[in-house]
Amino acid sequence: MPVPDNVRREVEKLRREIEEHNYNYYVLDNPTIPDEQYDQMLRRLIELEEKYPELKTLDSPTQRVGGQVQEGFEPVKHLVPMLSLDNAFNEEELRDFDRRVRSIINDEPVEYVVELKIDGLAVSLLYEDGRLLRGATRGDGETGEDITENLKTVGSIPLRLRQPVSRLEVRGEAYMPKEAFARLNARREENGEPLFANPRNAAAGSLRQLDPKVTASRSLSTFIYGIGYVEGRQMDTHIQGLQFLKELGFRINPDIQVFKDISGVIEYVKSWQDRRFDLSYVIDGMVIKVNSLKQQKKLGYTAKSPRWAIAYKFPAEKAQTKVEDIKISVGRTGVLTPTAYLKPVKVAGSTVSRAVLHNEDIIKKKNIKIGDTVVVHKAGDVIPEIVEVLAEKRTGSEVDFVYPERCPECGTKVERIEGEAAVRCPNQDCPARNREGLFHFVSRPAMDIDGLGPAVISQLLRAGLIKDAADLYSLKYEDLIKLERIGEKSARNLLNAVEESKNRSLGQLIFALGIRHVGQTAAKKLAKHFGTLQKLAQASRDELLAVPEVGPKMADSIVRWFQQEKNQKLLEKLISAGVNTEDVENKGLENNSLEGTTFVLTGTLREFTRQEAKEAVEARGGRVASSVSKKTDYVVVGENPGSKLKKAQELGIKTVNEEEFKKLLG
Ligand code: NAD
Repeated sequence: MPVPDNVRREVEKLRREIEEHNYNYYVLDNPTIPDEQYDQMLRRLIELEEKYPELKTLDSPTQRVGGQVQEGFEPVKHLVPMLSLDNAFNEEELRDFDRRVRSIINDEPVEYVVELKIDGLAVSLLYEDGRLLRGATRGDGETGEDITENLKTVGSIPLRLRQPVSRLEVRGEAYMPKEAFARLNARREENGEPLFANPRNAAAGSLRQLDPKVTASRSLSTFIYGIGYVEGRQMDTHIQGLQFLKELGFRINPDIQVFKDISGVIEYVKSWQDRRFDLSYVIDGMVIKVNSLKQQKKLGYTAKSPRWAIAYKFPAEKAQTKVEDIKISVGRTGVLTPTAYLKPVKVAGSTVSRAVLHNEDIIKKKNIKIGDTVVVHKAGDVIPEIVEVLAEKRTGSEVDFVYPERCPECGTKVERIEGEAAVRCPNQDCPARNREGLFHFVSRPAMDIDGLGPAVISQLLRAGLIKDAADLYSLKYEDLIKLERIGEKSARNLLNAVEESKNRSLGQLIFALGIRHVGQTAAKKLAKHFGTLQKLAQASRDELLAVPEVGPKMADSIVRWFQQEKNQKLLEKLISAGVNTEDVENKGLENNSLEGTTFVLTGTLREFTRQEAKEAVEARGGRVASSVSKKTDYVVVGENPGSKLKKAQELGIKTVNEEEFKKLLG
């Protein structure tokens, strides 16, 4: 069939656009359109290429797997190509897949393994003589990027296998749990850094950067789902392979099931449609694989994907609602953040009534007006976002949101900082900034003062009992019980919690001060490097830059913070209140609370890498052993614990979870 000119043009346009989106997604980890829209474009291209086969070329995006090697990483040639998966978007397409499979294997009985499709990035791990030799991204399927050092920081990846295997290459998905994604984006927003669109991009961005320390701070995890290559081991089915991987110490997803026909598969797939929102990680579909390896071999591969597997994609969860209002709030760094107040609507498993709009540019770009009908979704299944405005639903009664020129709390003229989309209230004494700063000061990762939530702080401020964070340390029982809803017991508890917070680590204190750009990890590093708050306060820009974690932006911000008179006064008050300003943790000698105590660690901890947990124990005079024996005092049990837990139970050794472990650390 001759190819009409307009089709030729459409194909070219689609290819150009898809290539561009591939680049944004796979190389920059920064997609600019929703996956659904991308999938539609790709589907259209496949459709046209099928109708006009002469348009099909080897370099078409329909024939190639994802990304390319980014500069700065060593290219790694995969032992066996790492392909993509063909997609199905509805039940009928799953039945088509089943028909195709059965026609190739001459209608032999077929079993399917159904797995969750974790929304992260594919990684390959190569082991030699039982040791992790190399870890790589998928790249273009033939060649990936060497990210070994980064992958080594991911707790669920075994550095050594539990059984000897001379050569083994496994594939799996590295991902960022929903909660970690939400935390990371909140911190990035605070620091004026660009946000990650979803946990997949956040995970990829965390692994595809050059500093393993950054990866280590990002709470990544893995599920391993297949063997690329293995020496000296014969298997008949995919599920046997997974069982073997489990025995070797890999983290295997617990929700994998085998079915004898496609109807069972379809039922199982459907059962996850809503349940998926209860998972702690994002899945964007299910993967269906032929179980028999003999049948897999017979089915073989296309250029881009195996014929023995298919990915069923869940439809993106979206809902329509109305923007009832847009309101501005002022954060502790003075940033004005607009939030859309929505007519409550159910999306991705819960009711959404607000969506943060981040800044003026986003309101303008999306052209959002008060009264608009909008489509909302949840980025990473957790963060509500307005995807688009349905302009055709406008009635004329919608109103533009006028961005304030003055801070809504203190009336100071706002400033727009060069190169940043954010607008700030520059008034250091702005009551909103002060209040938010106090919320931050008492929060869990900072001074962790129990019972001192936003409501009580607002009460204390209104009653004039506190003006800054240091005033918390001079609160009196008599004052507190005069306040509404604060009884004798809660007043006493509160005072105890405040008193107790004087012993927080220097890292927590530095983080609590709320210096711009200084996150939790940086605060810890600064504490370790300078040893005391006083030394940090006197540090010059150059001295700060000598700390590996600190860049010019952070250094300037720290210097500026300590120069301000208001902050100097705050420090004096905190010091005279008796707040700890020394890095006791890293001095070791001063805290011997765990002397003579032996710990064994198993499984993945949320807040510590293995190394950090070990250092924390050792800093307190304790010891971390690699195996459980009668001499072990505590076994710390993280996520997905190994056989050490069983051993501990057999020997009657006390096991503690992460919370209890933190308490032991004090
Ligand atoms: P894919 O995500 O459709 O499927 C293949 C991948 O699934 C594998 O590489 C593996 O990483 C993963 N996977 C997760 N769990 C698995 C399991 N249990 N077993 C096997 N594999 C499992 O294919 P892809 O080529 O990685 O990427 C295509 C996706 O990327 C599409 O969803 C597309 O929408 C999106 N994309 C979006 C843009 C954009 O601009 N928005 C651009 C390019 C690609």
